[in-house]
Amino acid sequence: MRIVRASAILTLAVLGAAGVFFLIAPPAPERLADPGWTALRARTVAGAIHVHSTRSDGHGDRAQIAAAAARSGLKFVIVTDHGDATRPPDPPAYLSGVLVLDAVEISTDDGHYLAIDMPRAPYPLGGAGDAVVEDVRRLGGFGIAAHPDSPKPALRWTAAAIPDGLEWLNLDSAWRDDSRAALVRAGLAYFLRPSPALALLLDRPPTLARWDQLTRERRVVAVAGVDAHGGVGRRAEDADSPRSLAGTIGIPSYASSFATMSNHVVLDAPLQGDPAADARGIYTAVREGRVFTAVDALAAPALLDFGADTPAGHVPMGSVLPRGSAATLLARATMPAGGELILLHDGQVIATTRGGELRYPVSGGAGAFRVEVHLAAGSDATRVPWIVSNPIVFAEHINREPPEAPPASAARAAIAPFPWRIEKDPSSSGILRSSSQDATLEFKLGAGARESQFVALASDLRGEAFDAIELGLTADRPCRVSVQLRTVEGKRWGRSYYVDPAGSRLHVRVGDLRPLDSGHAGALAPSLAQSLLLVIDLTNANPGRSGTLRVTSSALVR
Ligand SMILES: [Zn+2]
Ligand SMILES: [Zn+2]
Repeated sequence: MRIVRASAILTLAVLGAAGVFFLIAPPAPERLADPGWTALRARTVAGAIHVHSTRSDGHGDRAQIAAAAARSGLKFVIVTDHGDATRPPDPPAYLSGVLVLDAVEISTDDGHYLAIDMPRAPYPLGGAGDAVVEDVRRLGGFGIAAHPDSPKPALRWTAAAIPDGLEWLNLDSAWRDDSRAALVRAGLAYFLRPSPALALLLDRPPTLARWDQLTRERRVVAVAGVDAHGGVGRRAEDADSPRSLAGTIGIPSYASSFATMSNHVVLDAPLQGDPAADARGIYTAVREGRVFTAVDALAAPALLDFGADTPAGHVPMGSVLPRGSAATLLARATMPAGGELILLHDGQVIATTRGGELRYPVSGGAGAFRVEVHLAAGSDATRVPWIVSNPIVFAEHINREPPEAPPASAARAAIAPFPWRIEKDPSSSGILRSSSQDATLEFKLGAGARESQFVALASDLRGEAFDAIELGLTADRPCRVSVQLRTVEGKRWGRSYYVDPAGSRLHVRVGDLRPLDSGHAGALAPSLAQSLLLVIDLTNANPGRSGTLRVTSSALVR
């Protein structure tokens, strides 16, 4: 009797558990028929971009991250620990058969910026987003705006400078705009099918529309940022929230994050097993936009062949073609049952097919063409696309910003430096040597803890009317100097400029200066500026830093 009752309870429990499973478990990824595209498949490698290790706020070391990536079928991982880019990156290495690449996530005043494929920076990168974009580019790196439309305002990308790339999707940001009910459902589902549960949190983000605006004129490469921490606790992004239980027990795990979505890089040739050469191949493909995103937890395998036939031959996804030229766009993809392949022009749908192949002739090409694959035809506008390609762009300036017009007054003769004096905090020191030719500042920022150490050269203004400041500056080492204007009330406007040991000529437009103190905004009337300051502070230098800054010429111009 007792045995019968026990087995009845057990049966009920099993049925109950099965019922719960069917109610809350998201479907397993749809397995697509092998299209037999062997050559393309061998050149298409999946990887994770934007991963944190124990070096910053992640829970696993490089070996654990690589092992998790291997379990999820990835071939490369770009680790982007928080930092200022002054740590020399580890050389590329294969661990558990996964190519581990070392990069950095830089916190700027305008959001977070991933700098990949970049050597160590000569000074800490930080401050205004525009300055960091410029520094990463000058150092030869490739910059990606991370979680640009994060629900957390402080994490949004707000710089005016156009990044080299951006995350159109960020797994770590995805949950922040979901309702509590959706989070509870995903949380329960996580224990049944982890990656499909994480995919439940993904929506079609506003960043796609923002990206479509940027790519009308130039190539901006979009990637998916998995932003994996191996848990959600102790993140720099959440400095103001308490440690969570989920983070402590490692949810979401690296492996489940990696299996949710990935970047599929289309190489010229399959990986060889040589870390340096393979790293070059992957970085080159990402830089050139030969990469598409797939939400692998929805369907797999994702394969996409997107390119264009032009009079000069076939070009791949990511190419920039001359504006006004003609081409035939070609796209084919593995297709989920009932799915749809979509061609977009500047964000507008211009062609769709339920078959896996699309041809579209373009004449007088202008703007950006890209491809999406949706799981269901006509699916609603809030669903995350399964595949997102990078665009083929018809643009005026191929792969390059239009050259900046030289300032009108560039030819004028150098003007002797203003009379300068030193301003500094009590812990820092400076010695000023002036001649009729130049002014040389030897400085040392106070050592020890970060307070607000600074040393500045200051010069007084007398209500002059001017639109710009011209400066000839030289430093003993590469550095950034903040050029600032200060009013009688002590309000400051400023912007930092790179100064090269070989000498830099700055043309500082007053209109480009930004308010530096919170609580005031708007433009500065130059006649109200009482002082001009050249500031070295902790934005781009560490406590204890010493060096030399030389002013070889200075002028106010209109
Ligand atoms: Zn971040
Ligand atoms: Zn991050």
